[in-house]
Amino acid sequence: MTKLSTLKGVCDVLPPEIYTWNRIEETSKEVFKSFGFHEVKIPVIEHSELFIRSIGETTDIVGKEMYTFMDKGGRSITLRPEGTAGMVRSYVENNLHLLPSPQKFHYYGPMFRYERPQKGRLRQFYQIGVEALGSASPLVDAEVITMAHTFFQKLNLTNLTIELNSIGCNKCRGTYRNAIVEFFSKKGVLCNDCQVRIAKNPLRMLDCKVERCVEQRTGAPVILDYICEECKTHHERLKELLTAINIDYKENPHIVRGLDYYNRTAFEITTEHLGAQKAVAAGGRYDNLVSDFNGPATPAVGFAIGIERLVALVGVTQNQNNPVFYIAPLGKDAEDKAFVLSQSLRQRAIVTECGDGLHSLKNHLKRADKLNASFVVIIGENELKTSQVLCKRLSDAFQKEIGIDDIDTLIAFAAEKPGATA
Ligand code: ATP
Ligand code: MG
Repeated sequence: MTKLSTLKGVCDVLPPEIYTWNRIEETSKEVFKSFGFHEVKIPVIEHSELFIRSIGETTDIVGKEMYTFMDKGGRSITLRPEGTAGMVRSYVENNLHLLPSPQKFHYYGPMFRYERPQKGRLRQFYQIGVEALGSASPLVDAEVITMAHTFFQKLNLTNLTIELNSIGCNKCRGTYRNAIVEFFSKKGVLCNDCQVRIAKNPLRMLDCKVERCVEQRTGAPVILDYICEECKTHHERLKELLTAINIDYKENPHIVRGLDYYNRTAFEITTEHLGAQKAVAAGGRYDNLVSDFNGPATPAVGFAIGIERLVALVGVTQNQNNPVFYIAPLGKDAEDKAFVLSQSLRQRAIVTECGDGLHSLKNHLKRADKLNASFVVIIGENELKTSQVLCKRLSDAFQKEIGIDDIDTLIAFAAEKPGATA
């Protein structure tokens, strides 16, 4: 049989990296809870139509990157490329607007996009997403940005940049769209996609990554010069609130986001340490998506964090699974006792590794050392006779005899500091 491997752009997450993933997930839950967000689980598969209608047909995600297939019932199904669409579907379907407002949710899981795999860009990648629905106030925009900031701070990531923009609303975007069309129609040849975009969705041109188009963008009209008074007031208030709690941000008029449903606030949180894949998190306001899905008029704002990029920034976290005790039985009779003792320790949530009775003491000690265990408990023939086990601290070889059933004393010994007893 040929050797099997993962699909292109899809990764296994293994120890020790998984400990960084765990730390990220736990930290996010702790921080989001303090902001009053509730966790939800939403499906990985949805009707394709959900994404086409929300993200937009002329976006890269829908146009090129969707994992779409027909199921056995002849339905067009898509592996979710992002979480907001599913969250909004769930919001409408489950009448979540009846909950106290704003309704604040977060979720965590894999997303799928058929992209060209490279560093920080995968076909299956994970996102933590948050969505706050039911408030049009810039206070909530400030709240979600502050929440992302707090989360990154807790992970000791201090040199990230919050890049902020407003992309206006349906009212003011028309004028800007015309200005963009006029600007680009005077330019040289654009990439094939942008030739379609200029007719169908001109704002998308500002998000094009083709070098030729990026170069021609220099001097393009800036949306902040075109937004209406209400959008401007919203944007200014958001900036005031961020300033009030000393959160630094940088205005970046080029942020348009790769999804059609955004309006007003759009932001990215970027790093200089990941090469071309700079955005660790991205989000914005989407005031019309719920009503587009036939839900009640519900303004909303949210963001998503790319976990693989974040893991690369956080680096390796200490393995939290190193055994406290390695139990070393010598012979079959001792193995019984070792197995029972291990179970008692594990029931007390103490990480314990149980060796088998076939190994020599030397082998056990070698294994305990490799596993990075803190203590070895030796159970040999002698120990069985006296009902005393020998517990050895590996850091300084200090050892103590302890009654074989005396779990409390064993645990107390493990809690002693080296030096205190030596
Ligand atoms: P990019 O500009 O990098 O393509 P995007 O605008 O497509 O990002 P969003 O859809 O807003 O990204 O997703 C939010 C975050 O999810 C991104 O900032 C990034 O950290 C992460 N992300 C998006 N696509 C991928 C991918 N293919 N592989 C890994 N992470 C990704
Ligand atoms: Mg993208």
